[in-house]
Amino acid sequence: MRENNCPPDRWAWVEIDLGAVRSNVRAFKKQLESGVRMMCVVKADAYGHGAVRCADVMSKAGAYSFAVATPSEGVELRKSGIEEPIVVLSEPPISAIPMLIEYDLEPAVYTTEFALAFGEAAADAGTVGKYHMAIDTGMHRIGVTPDDALDFRHAVDFHRGLTCAGVFTHFATAEVPDDWDFRMQCKRFIDTVNALKSAGYETGLIHCDNTPGTILHKGMQFDMCRVGIGLYGLHAAPITASYIDLKPVMAVKARVTRAIEPEVGEGVGYGMTYRIANKGTQIATIPLGYADGLARELSNRMDVIVNGTRCPQVGNICMDQTMFAVPPASANPFAPSTRVDYGDVVTLIGQDDDEAITLDDMAHIRRTINYEVACDFGLRLEKIYV
Ligand SMILES: *Cc1c(COP(=O)(O)O)cnc(C)c1O
Repeated sequence: MRENNCPPDRWAWVEIDLGAVRSNVRAFKKQLESGVRMMCVVKADAYGHGAVRCADVMSKAGAYSFAVATPSEGVELRKSGIEEPIVVLSEPPISAIPMLIEYDLEPAVYTTEFALAFGEAAADAGTVGKYHMAIDTGMHRIGVTPDDALDFRHAVDFHRGLTCAGVFTHFATAEVPDDWDFRMQCKRFIDTVNALKSAGYETGLIHCDNTPGTILHKGMQFDMCRVGIGLYGLHAAPITASYIDLKPVMAVKARVTRAIEPEVGEGVGYGMTYRIANKGTQIATIPLGYADGLARELSNRMDVIVNGTRCPQVGNICMDQTMFAVPPASANPFAPSTRVDYGDVVTLIGQDDDEAITLDDMAHIRRTINYEVACDFGLRLEKIYV
């Protein structure tokens, strides 16, 4: 049995390396042109890594501001003591406005209805509502279109309860080399910002670069970069790996709750999608499943590491439990082998001796992106901060 720091009530957990978060923030600060501010994106509970603890480290490492997806995510940060600006990255419903004002959250805004309601409520509360004007430069997700930008400002800027704290857009293809769509988004953004300025409108902070943009498109950093995935030690695409040294933050671990040697021909799990082929094969159980973010589509397609040895996961992944096989040494005399016991530590994501499995590896099997795999592991597993 190995040393471990698992929670007392459950033998499955996520380990978050806060030192790695600090190191990644510093690595990104080195990517910023002088005077450019760093916004740390901690939406979705910091991509599953735990927003409160991560934001605390980011704040101390020099974050200028934070970005969240929802007002409640912003409230959680405020209650934890974060004093930096907090931007909500999309326009919430009008019913969220009292919350925004009470907790000094800065929403992305793109409808005049919301802007005016926000201004009214702020003025009533004796304050000024700070908003970031979203520009849709081509992703067609949120924002004012470049054509409507001046009209929008004309319609809302008279309001004394409103101030524009920023103008921003979001790139769809910042990681694609030499991309026509990216260049088109840049041009539309620059033209829109210039038009706002020439018309005499306040722009606040101008920002558009995300993680790959910050690294690859320094000329588009403007006043602030919005860095998300990179803070968690992950790349948006392999292309940025050679430009910056990032440390992985998340590991996913469990301990064996049972290990037995069923007879040859016996099946494993719902549907019995795996059958024992070799005498002496151990079937070991770990107490996490698809409700913890270990997607069921990984069934019979992933490995785990135990005692420095890779072992195949077998049978269908259950909601709260998963089985893996430990082949007998006789099954392949050339492959490393091990035996497992009750309590042994199993690595699903992370390093164990010479073996490692990354969120990228798992994303590849799932045909998705590391972002989704990380968020999924944030669902239910307890986080242990190391
Ligand atoms: C999520 C998000 C980001 C951060 O993107 P990363 O690729 O994780 O760096 C930046 N801006 C907006 C508007 C976002 O929604």
